[in-house]
Amino acid sequence: MKEFNKNDTVKLKIGNSLTIKEKLGEGGQGVVYRVELQGKEYALKWYTHEYSKKFYQNLDNNIKKGAPAKTFLWPLYITEWKDNRFGYVMELRPPEYKDFSHFLLAKQRFASLSSMINAALQISNAFRELHRAGYSYQDLNDGNFFINPQTGDVLICDNDNVAPDGTNLGIAGKCRYMAPEVVLGKRKPNADSDRFSLSVALFMLLFGNHPLEGKLIASVPCMTDKNERRFYGSDPVFIFDPQDDRNRPVMGIHTNAIRRWPLFPIFVREAFIHAFGKECAHHPNKRNPENEWQKLFIRLRDETVMCSCGNETFIDLSQSSSRCINCGKDLGKPLLLHVKNNRVVLFPQQKIYACHLRPDNQDFLTVAGEVIQNKKNPSLWGIRNLTSDVWLATLPDGRQLSVKTNEVIPVFKDIEIIFSGGTKAKIEE
Ligand SMILES: [Zn+2]
Repeated sequence: MKEFNKNDTVKLKIGNSLTIKEKLGEGGQGVVYRVELQGKEYALKWYTHEYSKKFYQNLDNNIKKGAPAKTFLWPLYITEWKDNRFGYVMELRPPEYKDFSHFLLAKQRFASLSSMINAALQISNAFRELHRAGYSYQDLNDGNFFINPQTGDVLICDNDNVAPDGTNLGIAGKCRYMAPEVVLGKRKPNADSDRFSLSVALFMLLFGNHPLEGKLIASVPCMTDKNERRFYGSDPVFIFDPQDDRNRPVMGIHTNAIRRWPLFPIFVREAFIHAFGKECAHHPNKRNPENEWQKLFIRLRDETVMCSCGNETFIDLSQSSSRCINCGKDLGKPLLLHVKNNRVVLFPQQKIYACHLRPDNQDFLTVAGEVIQNKKNPSLWGIRNLTSDVWLATLPDGRQLSVKTNEVIPVFKDIEIIFSGGTKAKIEE
């Protein structure tokens, strides 16, 4: 069909019309325009291929139900169905959000480890909320994510194949991200296959290479359909599988994975060993659930600290001391805030979040406290209360302090804290 021109109007199903401003881009499925609707600018994705009425109705249903999480650039309005063509309206993507594939090609870099962990946390949470709302995504791949490299904030696009779990509207997914049973054509994409694709995306985010691409793939002259079915379908081998070393990463090709893998704490490596092990490859219901990934990245964030060299590093709580992964400095074993099932490493600039403080709180984004250094005596540390509530601290000698907004609890072993809501915490070794 012919493309739209500036100032053309397109009628929405709900009755009003939008005005085309300019073409923003073009993909396999359609064209994206910047449009104006009731004085505000949006993006319109207009399909250039024919899609079924069922696809249209599914999109319309998703619009009515609303986005499962803020992370999704969810369809907001659908246009009228006209001559077998239609489109949908969504928010414009702010320019500070960059294509995930650019991070994989090193065209973009995260400002810090924290921003990278935040991105992993937000992606895990988004798919958790999507599945909890009864959907499956079905086409999860590196083209769906846009990430702010400074903060790690994520926006997930291309939500048009999202459908109630168990319903498939024709999409199979993108090769390298599809689950083995989908590659082999045994099953249609569903929430279990999303979990496999999610693990692939998370591995690539952290380690910069593909989890199934090592020596085996590097040694074939070209990627035929038969090879693709073998390496991603019938016989996928994780590059760090402890029981199967056939597919180890190759120096010079998979250098990121080789360099980064040993730097991460063992619990992170174990989760990926499980995610890409033989059991998960062939038994879709055994795959790592999204809430486990969410907890894992909260734990990783709790154990990530700012070294005096100005870079972030991990504190491995299973070891008696940890060295900075950047400068090699021995950081010893800092004190911990033991709260709920979390152990937050207490180190200057470390944050405590709302989800740490209340039993039922899932808010992992709102900062509730921060570890600060005394300006006159930098060896004295404290936890600043950044909430509007009063915290109660009991010192080892039995004295009690009530700690209001912006006040500070000193960081010493055996101090006990009761946060508002009654959650008890203790500073421990
Ligand atoms: Zn350092």
